Formats: sequence, C-alpha cells, structure tokens
Amino acid sequence: MEKIALYPGSFDPITKGHIDIIKRSSNLFDKLIIGIFKNSTKSKAWFSDEEKVEMIQEILKKEGIKAEIKIFNGLLVDFMYKENVNILIRGLRALSDYEYELQFTLTNKTLAKSEFETVFLTASREYLYLSSSLVKEVALNRGDLSFFVTENVERRLIDKVEK
Ligand code: ADP
Repeated sequence: MEKIALYPGSFDPITKGHIDIIKRSSNLFDKLIIGIFKNSTKSKAWFSDEEKVEMIQEILKKEGIKAEIKIFNGLLVDFMYKENVNILIRGLRALSDYEYELQFTLTNKTLAKSEFETVFLTASREYLYLSSSLVKEVALNRGDLSFFVTENVERRLIDKVEK
C-alpha cells in the first residue's frame, strides 16, 4: 500500500521549524501533502491562503523538496479520506504541545472514515521554541527574523508590518 502522508497546519507563516518537519518527512513516505487549513472569514491570520501557498511553493522549489500543497476546510478526516491519506504527521516541540497533539490525534481517530497512523516527529533542538505567533511578534517589533524564517517569508512579514 502506498504511504501517503499529510502534514496539516495553519502555516501563518511557515517557519524553519515547519520546513524541518517537511524535509524530514518527505524522505519517509511515498507522497507528502502539506495541508493548509483554510482561513475562516473571522480568522485573524496575517496571510491569505494564496500567500501561504506561494511562500511554501517558493521554499519547496528552492530546497528541491517533493511535496504537494493543498488548502482544505471542513473536517481533517474528510480531507484525509478524499486524498487517500494513511499517515498524519505532526511536529512535537516542548512538553506543552503534547497534550494538545494527543487530543488532536485521538479526536481525529474517533472521527476517521479510514485507518491512519499518526507519526510525531520531534522538533529539532534549534527550533524547539519556534512558533508562527512568536515570529509575528518579532516582526511587529522589527527584530531579526533570519533565524526563524526563510528570506522570502521574511520579506513578506516586513511588508505586512510596514503596511
Ligand atoms: P496549528 O496552528 O494547527 O498548530 P501550525 O502551523 O502552528 O498549525 O503547526 C502545524 C504542526 O507543526 C503542529 O503539529 C505543530 O506542533 C508543528 N510545529 C510547529 N512549529 C514547529 C517547530 N518549530 N518544530 C517542529 N514542529 C513544529
């Protein structure tokens, strides 16, 4: 059976922590889909769905990573069923992620329409405390973003802050 993996997230914006998980998982499975949760109308996201796709596309191209990017809404398990996903990938940072991630995966297991396994990849040491919200906070305060995000994302963050 083909191993089709999905790495879902908000990616608002994609950080080097996410990229690390994407790179590592792209070598493990037959196919990797990066799933962007569609912004709801009430969402406070900084980036539109299209901007998120563009940023991720630029990174995949530059890094030579093979993965598909898809935007989805509704239940995660419905999307997984539609795309024949049998592996769900999540990243685990500090202990604080654990409880939420466990809840996330068990809830989805209960709702699932087809069998899947969740694979947790531990965050690399340098990205353990890196999150999209932290990156936005640094951007708002005009801090150096180069350690947290790639150049293309940094440029867009600065654009947003300046507007
Ligand atoms: P969400 O808003 O749904 O948590 P994110 O885009 O923030 O989505 O994260 C998607 C997944 O990536 C989650 O499993 C999260 O734990 C993981 N993740 C986020 N940042 C990092 C990081 N720095 N290192 C490893 N995994 C991460």
